[in-house]
Amino acid sequence: MARYIGAVCRQCRRENAKLFLKGDRCYTDKCAIEKRSYPPGQHGAGFRQKISEYGGQLREKQKVKRIYGVLEKQFRRLFVEAARRKGMTGENLLFLLEKRLDNVVFRLGFASSRKEARQIVSHGHITINGRKATVPSIQVRLNDEVSVREKSRKHPQVLGAMEAARRKGVSSWLEVDPKTFTGKVVGEPKREELTLPIEEQMIVELYSR
Ligand code: SF4
Repeated sequence: MARYIGAVCRQCRRENAKLFLKGDRCYTDKCAIEKRSYPPGQHGAGFRQKISEYGGQLREKQKVKRIYGVLEKQFRRLFVEAARRKGMTGENLLFLLEKRLDNVVFRLGFASSRKEARQIVSHGHITINGRKATVPSIQVRLNDEVSVREKSRKHPQVLGAMEAARRKGVSSWLEVDPKTFTGKVVGEPKREELTLPIEEQMIVELYSR
């Protein structure tokens, strides 16, 4: 499947926002956007572009796609599903993104970034309710148990991420038991807990054009 393989921090600089794509590094002064908070490229530093309404909506969509590491086709499919469900489409879209397996693995602290979580899942280190799950886009459900497989529990990436996660804690809709390397979905994501700089209504407006 096609994936963005360029410099990760360029994506934050392009969106002029911290998207937290690199795990712990994002919380240090090595963060690229702290040093160069202008768009990448030859004209990034000196050129101020006026952004139209459409341009702003497009950037918002790109930003969310980049945060969750989702490509256009998948993102569009999630939007259709979000619009079909009861409630506000924008919020539904964010909740569907939150409940992707790779995001849940990241939120539980088994990986330090969503990108790393996607790799851990596709390399077969994760189970859902005791069964190996290798598809990062799977939607987890209420009461699902997400675990690190027994033979993967000494994986340095997992151990490093769990150590860092212990300091940060987990979202209220998830529970984690670090001793058994198991997490559980105990509720639904809450909009107020998503502190990322996202204006989901702009994405709804973009797709409603
Ligand atoms: Fe790079 Fe993370 Fe900073 Fe973004 S937030 S620029 S990914 S270090």
